[in-house]
Amino acid sequence: MLRLSRRRLLAGAAALAPLAVLRHGRAQSTDPFTLGIASGAPRPDRVVLWTRLAPQPLEGGGMPDRPVPVEWELAEEAHFARIVRRGTFQALPAQGHTVHAEPAGLEPGRTYWYRFRAMGAESPVGRTRTAAADGTALDRFRFAFASCQMYEHGYFSAYRHMAKDDLDLVVHLGDYIYEMSWGRRHVRRHNGAIPTDLWEFRDRWALYKGDPDLRAAHESAPWVAIWDDHEVANDYTGDRSPRTDDPAQFLRIRAAAYQAYWEHMPLPMAAAPEGAALRIYDRYRFGDMLDLTLLDDRQYRSHPACGAGRAGAPHTADCEERRDPGRTMLGAEQERWFAEQMGQARGRWTVIAQQTLMAELDRKAGDGKGYWMDGWDGNAASRDRLLAAIAERRPSNPVVISGDVHAFWVADLKRDFADPSSPTIASEIVGTSITSQGPSEAAIRTGLAENPHIRYARGDKRGYVRMTLEKQAARADLLAVDDPFEPNSEVRPLAAFAIENGRPGAVPA
Ligand code: FE
Ligand code: CA
Repeated sequence: MLRLSRRRLLAGAAALAPLAVLRHGRAQSTDPFTLGIASGAPRPDRVVLWTRLAPQPLEGGGMPDRPVPVEWELAEEAHFARIVRRGTFQALPAQGHTVHAEPAGLEPGRTYWYRFRAMGAESPVGRTRTAAADGTALDRFRFAFASCQMYEHGYFSAYRHMAKDDLDLVVHLGDYIYEMSWGRRHVRRHNGAIPTDLWEFRDRWALYKGDPDLRAAHESAPWVAIWDDHEVANDYTGDRSPRTDDPAQFLRIRAAAYQAYWEHMPLPMAAAPEGAALRIYDRYRFGDMLDLTLLDDRQYRSHPACGAGRAGAPHTADCEERRDPGRTMLGAEQERWFAEQMGQARGRWTVIAQQTLMAELDRKAGDGKGYWMDGWDGNAASRDRLLAAIAERRPSNPVVISGDVHAFWVADLKRDFADPSSPTIASEIVGTSITSQGPSEAAIRTGLAENPHIRYARGDKRGYVRMTLEKQAARADLLAVDDPFEPNSEVRPLAAFAIENGRPGAVPA
């Protein structure tokens, strides 16, 4: 009864109130849509619509301790003259009053618009898109990928630019939030210390989600995402963090962090975490053009090899342990699943989205080898198995996309990195960070000089990568922010690479 009369009230208010009044309402502290809206997990028949009610975003949200109904609408055009689905989602206190509505029965490969209404206010309008049906012929698919958006290191101009790119999809590769402060020059500050419980993680997410450029990028296209370490704790591996020696304590932190991650991403209700476990590895398919595999190399990873594990060391001397076949980045179950996916891939392009630089990288200038153990080089046998699975199952045009290292890299992924004549199994493109500060010029120089399979490296620029997939070629535009310390910075092309159909290895476009 109460719910019905409330809905009627809301509907009446919306019909009578001019838009300016609603807009004005949004600017006040009672506006529940301070964290924006988002959509994601696009399938041919459904997509997830997300928001979180948070009138006081940095103080726990400011919501009452009871369920609150949120109306959502999905339309075929931006003015909502033809609404095709609507519903009411009960936003629950236990889920931070987040909304994960999932309208189904939609048309494949179609653009839709959506909005929410709650607590007498109306949200902005978002644009989203379902995936093209399996096998449908597509001429083109465009997506952007991004990673590493340290809030204190700069403004999110890259996202303001990305929001105008008219994309089919945005892929986030992790470090969406940073739990810790670090770096040289801070243009804005984190709220509070390193989060360890759910309320502290929610407040950190709210700080990031409040950024207007990031909100615009979410409003512009559906997203899929994977995490890296900073959504939980720097350089964590599976059930261990360099910050605590007590695994039980760390798993409590991980459970809170995973819950906050799920709450703030456009993920389905069915994907909600169970305790400290949250499966994020997945596969998406977009017509006959793209098979997109998302990997999780944090949750199931082996502990650091070769006595590494103290954060901040630039590299560790080579050692036998990093090649131990018992070590893994993905865990046995995900490795098996990955090989299966490579056998079932049907798209023209097989994009493997994962956290960190996959190409081997000798980081020691001159004689001898040095590796960074918090990545694939610290788990070399796991990388060998992944590349072997690609080589054996032969999916069409494998391209690995990566984040984490705060620099652009373009690399050939070799069957045997020690032998430059060995076959290139896949192309790798590493996007730089949205804002997080990058490596030194010396580190980039060494990377290029010591590793013949590296085709390009640039560490001094922040930005993202826009990928255009067509039948005959894929194009990667490396886009760079002029000045991350400037809130209205321009973004412009830095370099472009092409991968030809049937020929692994990116070349300058
Ligand atoms: Fe990062
Ligand atoms: Ca060397």
